[in-house]
Amino acid sequence: MKVLVAVKRVVDYNVKVRVKSDQTGVDTANVKMSMNPFDEIAVEEAVRLKEQGLATEIIAVSCGVTQCTETLRTALAIGADRAILVETTQELQPLAVAKLLHAVVLKEKPDVVILGKQAIDDDCNQTGQMLAALAGMPQATFASKVEWVNDRLQVTREIDGGSEVLSLQLPAIVTTDLRLNEPRFITLPNIVKAKKKTLDVITPEALGVDVTPRHQTLKVSEPASRKSGIKVASVDDLIVQLKTVAKVI
Ligand code: AMP
Repeated sequence: MKVLVAVKRVVDYNVKVRVKSDQTGVDTANVKMSMNPFDEIAVEEAVRLKEQGLATEIIAVSCGVTQCTETLRTALAIGADRAILVETTQELQPLAVAKLLHAVVLKEKPDVVILGKQAIDDDCNQTGQMLAALAGMPQATFASKVEWVNDRLQVTREIDGGSEVLSLQLPAIVTTDLRLNEPRFITLPNIVKAKKKTLDVITPEALGVDVTPRHQTLKVSEPASRKSGIKVASVDDLIVQLKTVAKVI
């Protein structure tokens, strides 16, 4: 089973995101960037499939600027076998990424493609679904468990108020939810090993994909700041405040 994993370079989840003063987007200058947390879970799941003797090769793919190679090296250090960077400085929207991944899928012919359920920077939650549509493959999104049962991929999905179990014929697309696994700690020897693994660089043009953005971001703004609260001395005081100031009772 050949597994392709999509990994996106995003602002690290510990960073307090700041909106640019001209409100055109988020400030990424001098900000720590890391692998999207859901993609770390995707790579970990692929490595676990390999450790179970199910996956034979894991290929990590990232689309974006040159620095995405750092994200790919992280994927290689977790346990991916080789990596592909689809290099572009163009802003990539989910449809463009799905088309690029589809082109890679046509070349590499993986049995399973694992993506994160969403990228924490734009929160789109679209790429896996669009890729499944473009590739004509079955999809199981928001996976919290992936098993191999009767020569099919059995995926437990997190849904509102419970879970759903799907059985997929390969090739198939899976997107990861937070509870699927806990990614392993990356060891120094594995970081060193990752430096020697193959990392190919291709361009959207070489894949024949037009990545021109289809929508335009008009404005990005910070959430409205909340007014500070007040401390009341007693329950009676609270009731007075609720009646006369907040006017909610
Ligand atoms: P999104 O639809 O943008 O929320 O992203 C969902 C998932 O698609 C991510 O968790 C990644 O697995 C994949 N993805 C999105 N953008 C990229 C990218 N530029 N390069 C590689 N994978 C991506």
